Amino acid sequence: MKKLINRPDDVVKEMIEGLTAIYPGLTRLPNRTVITRSDAASARQNQVAIISGGGSGHEPAHAGFVGHGMLSAAVAGDVFTSPAPDAVLAAIRAVTGPPGVLLIVKNYTGDRLNFGLAAELARAEGLKVEVVVVADDVALAAVDESRHVGRRGLAGTILVHKIAGAAAAAGKDLYEVAAAARGAAESVGTMGVALSACTVPAAGKPGFTLAENEVELGLGIHGEPGVRRIPLAAADTLTDQLLTSIAGELRLNRGDRAALLVNNLGGTAVGELAIVGRRAIAALEERGVVVERVYVGTFLSALEMAGVSLSVLRIDDARLEQLDAPTTAPAWPNPTAVSQPHGRRSSPRSDSPADTTVDYIAVAPPSSRQGQAMEAALQAIVQAVAAASGRLTTLDQAVGDGDLGISLQRGAQAIHEGMAFYPFDDPAACLHALGLTVQSAIGGTSGPLYAILLLRAAARLRKAVNPSAPTVVDWVESFRAGCDGVIELGGAGRGDRTMLDALLPAVDALKDALHAGRSPHEAVADAADAAVAGARTTSEMLPRRGRSSYLGQRAVGHADPGAEAVAIWLKALARSLAHE
Ligand code: ADP
Ligand code: MG
Repeated sequence: MKKLINRPDDVVKEMIEGLTAIYPGLTRLPNRTVITRSDAASARQNQVAIISGGGSGHEPAHAGFVGHGMLSAAVAGDVFTSPAPDAVLAAIRAVTGPPGVLLIVKNYTGDRLNFGLAAELARAEGLKVEVVVVADDVALAAVDESRHVGRRGLAGTILVHKIAGAAAAAGKDLYEVAAAARGAAESVGTMGVALSACTVPAAGKPGFTLAENEVELGLGIHGEPGVRRIPLAAADTLTDQLLTSIAGELRLNRGDRAALLVNNLGGTAVGELAIVGRRAIAALEERGVVVERVYVGTFLSALEMAGVSLSVLRIDDARLEQLDAPTTAPAWPNPTAVSQPHGRRSSPRSDSPADTTVDYIAVAPPSSRQGQAMEAALQAIVQAVAAASGRLTTLDQAVGDGDLGISLQRGAQAIHEGMAFYPFDDPAACLHALGLTVQSAIGGTSGPLYAILLLRAAARLRKAVNPSAPTVVDWVESFRAGCDGVIELGGAGRGDRTMLDALLPAVDALKDALHAGRSPHEAVADAADAAVAGARTTSEMLPRRGRSSYLGQRAVGHADPGAEAVAIWLKALARSLAHE
């Protein structure tokens, strides 16, 4: 891996520092990977705020689109990993005033969960919040919708930012801004072709490889493989193929008006973009479509991936005016540059009345046997997850985006650092604190799911007759309640090839073993074995949830990394209890 970076862990932080140093219109929230308009404090008084974001690695998205007339703030997660809800919430608090806020979210499970949870928390604080999800990927439309989580959000999202930002700057209310964004999201289609893969800095190797004469058609923007691998063809042939899918999906007819966006996936020579743009315009005009605006450049990339995506947005007079409206966002190709209000850099504060992170108050070491067992088990789990991080990353590279090992390792590290602060003698409070730790440390899809698992389990334990000494039945019921939380938040079930295919068999085995009169420790060992077996069965399952669902049949043969992770920590738990 050759990259212009310092340390893989510092990539996002240093990138944000750079952006705020380069552009005076951008400001960073203290201790957050959130970029806001420098004038957010005054803008929020009379304009609907617009927030977008997601994993990093898609630069200039989303921070490059922060400015008057586009986004009020951008929330950046780690590379290809959704930001945690508390980062999104901090952004909402910083830029939202009486008119409210619109969150523009790309349709990925992780982004939907983390932004969705933040929206709920913000509404509970009395803020007006609307969410619009962009799913402009037409490559997946051709595939049976029931087999995956729906189309992904791709570069068409940037056009939605522009439309929504212009509507907000024009003083429209939250309902009107959300309607404009939703309308644009429904009228845009995107499809791309990749000539090479990309390498997540912390992973160090590419997510997939392409032979010299191969390209990936209909790929996502997280280094995940596309829907089809085809032989390399001439630029015009590939461009026609992309446009045929887009025009078919948007049902473009003679006389329709459109804007075209030619997006560099990161590593494409700029001249090649013009070659593709030239053919794309001609191909649309041959269909009788009136191409009124063309934007060419890097809008939403996948690190250094070579290739392009094309987006087509249906337009009318109102949308054209919104596309043409001025913006100070540095990455929008600005034919009508507006002078920047320099010198106004009053930094907006993230006033946090009730933050969602853990309060680190040192507690006494556990005195009860149960508390000591919990502490030892947690230590064993942390070690096991850390040791398996590389293997989980490799698995997630095969079927996802390669971040799972790194994300869980980050969670394990955060728990490790918090060991002295968990109230092990109060199991419910301890699980709750662990939930808060993973909520802010893990991110991605796994983060909020593990958080809800722990928070729900904690809530159930608190209902025990004696919450400081729960019975075996209380523990089983709380595990079950945690799994129900995962099902509710993530929408997956048994057989969807997720972590639930390890969790649910484990719950069943636990109950069966106790019924059969096995000791609690033996029952946990049985549960761990059932999780291992369950994880193994996932390699035969078609993915329907999470990023793997984009691969369909191509995922079969590999185990689900999330299910493997469950097997790993449950085995560590069982081993630790056996040694008691
Ligand atoms: P991503 O990088 O796609 O945001 P992670 O790498 O954090 O996600 O986690 C991937 C794992 O999450 C998958 O292997 C799967 O087990 C699990 N997963 C994905 N979607 C769901 C869901 N809806 N419900 C339960 N588990 C899910
Ligand atoms: Mg992943």
